[in-house]
Parts: sequence; C-alpha cells; structure tokens
Amino acid sequence: MTDHCNLRCFYCIPEEGYLFSKQDQLMTAEEIITLSSVFVRLGVDKIRLTGGEPLVRKDFPIIYEKLSALPVNLHLTTNGILIHEHLNLLKKFGCRSINLSLDTLNADTFLLLTRRNQFQQVYDNMLSLVNSGFNVKVNVVVMKGINEHEINRFIGLTKFMPVDIRFIEFMPFEGNYWVAAKVFTLSEILATIQTEFNFEALPHEKNETAKRFKINGHRGTFSIISTMSAPFCGDCNRIRLTADGKLKNCLFSKSETDLRTPLREGKPVDELIRDCILQKSKMLGGQINVHYESLSAEEIKNRSMISIGG
Ligand code: SAM
Repeated sequence: MTDHCNLRCFYCIPEEGYLFSKQDQLMTAEEIITLSSVFVRLGVDKIRLTGGEPLVRKDFPIIYEKLSALPVNLHLTTNGILIHEHLNLLKKFGCRSINLSLDTLNADTFLLLTRRNQFQQVYDNMLSLVNSGFNVKVNVVVMKGINEHEINRFIGLTKFMPVDIRFIEFMPFEGNYWVAAKVFTLSEILATIQTEFNFEALPHEKNETAKRFKINGHRGTFSIISTMSAPFCGDCNRIRLTADGKLKNCLFSKSETDLRTPLREGKPVDELIRDCILQKSKMLGGQINVHYESLSAEEIKNRSMISIGG
C-alpha cells in the first residue's frame, strides 16, 4: 500500500539513502481498488495489505472499507503501532485475522532493531487485538546474535495467549547487511524450543508457506517460515503488487511488471498479469540457486523489503 513506515527496522529498510516514493508514484486508493477487483475477477481469493506500514496511509480506512466489499479474504500485516486508531474500523468491516510484527520482547532490543522507542505501544496493541478476539499471528524475524535467545520467551506467550508465533528466517534484500551467519534456521529454532517444550507438527495446509507446530498444553501455536534453509516454493502461490503498482511473481523476482502505467492510460492489464505469473521461476525468483550458506547477498537484484511488501 505504501513504502512509508513509522519504524526503521535495519533488516527491512537500508540505513542510508533510501528514497521514499513520492505521492504520484504510489497507487491511489482508486487504483488499488480497481486492480484488486481485476485480481479477484481473475481468481485471487485472498488479499493481504502490507507495505511499508499500511496503517500510515491516511486513506487506509477508505481502501479497507472498499476492499472488504470484494468477495475475498482480506488480511493485514502491520507493525501494530497504530492499531488502536483502527480497531473499530477493522472490527466493523469484518477483519478477523492480523499479522503483527514484533521481533523482541525487550524494549531496548526493540529500539536497536527498529530505531524507534515504541515497544510498549506495539505490545499493548497486540494484547488489545487478542482481547478483542482477532486471530493474531506474531511475525518474529530471528537473527543470530540479536534475538535468538528470546525464542522460548515468545513460546512462553503461547501458554496463555491464543496467538501463532511465526518465526521467520532472516532474508537478504537490498541494503540490509544480510550474511548467512546471521540466519537462525528452522532446525536451530526447533532445537532451541525442544530444550524447554514438547511440541508436535500440525498438518500442512495447501499453499501454506509456514511449517506449523503445537505445544502440548498451550493455547497458542508456533510456525516457522524457512525461506533460506528449507524453501517451500512448490507450495507458494503468492504474487505481490508493490505500492508503486509493479507486479512481482515472487518475493525474490528480479523482473517486475508495471501495471500502474497501463492502468493510468486506460489500457487492459489482464494479459500482463497472466504473462507475469506464467513467467514465475521454479524457485526463489530464479536468483537463489545455491545453498543459503554459499549465497552472496550482493548477487541478488531486488528491492529492499520495505518497498516490496512482506
Ligand atoms: N509494516 C508492516 C509490518 O511491520 O509488519 C508490514 C511490512 S513488513 C515488510 C512485513 C514483514 O516482513 C514483517 O513481519 C517483517 O518482519 C518482514 N521482513 C522484513 N524484512 C525481512 C527480512 N529481511 N527477512 C525476513 N523478514 C523480513
């Protein structure tokens, strides 16, 4: 929806030199709604609003209301800072499920990771969502030397809270200082949890990118998104539309299909969408063909995550 954000997470936005999109580069509310309707007509049955931070868009309420009228499952990924301002709207238009990003339960680490002092606001808003009956998935990017020692604290939350903690392996994007040594893998995450908890795998759902687990006696669950150590591309049916109207058939795709320009020129976009999807590479955008430990981040041509939308 936008590449603007009220946090500056170092793994998501380059520390220096990032040029935020100007207003006329971003799709308007009308353009988002028009393109969404085209995707739904072509068979898309789930839309996730993300960014940047979707809730910093002033016209978020209008866009959310209009999209909620489409025959589609509407989801939201947010850093949670502005949730309290939108809770009633989200309830009113039938939102049931929210992905909230929170990589640490420590306020100092939060400041280090995000360069903003907003831990308490995000934590309180996570509790509000849970207490208001939303299905909350908490996205935790796990990075060696930063927050892997907090994994079992997050698991502790699931004892009383019906949330799904989603541990995400650290991925390389432009300007985010990715190195293989910082990836805390699926097997390392499981080994860490095993030191304190008994768990079992949950059945795999179609097109699910996360591996899901349940801990005996806990109200919540946990999941792992193992993009780097155990990619799941065969199951992934996601496409991404950037805030400036470019279609990406994979998070790691090098090429993009411009839909905003033809839309502004009044031209049809159906064929462009089909062609883009048909060109999808078998794995990781066709760019990551080696085991992640041999990968050099500089070889990957991509945007930074803040301008793709995760
Ligand atoms: N602002 C919203 C938020 O914070 O959830 C939505 C956008 S954010 C780009 C979406 C998700 O991408 C977040 O959960 C974030 O942690 C994740 N993400 C960003 N950069 C990442 C990286 N390098 N590796 C793994 N996940 C990343």
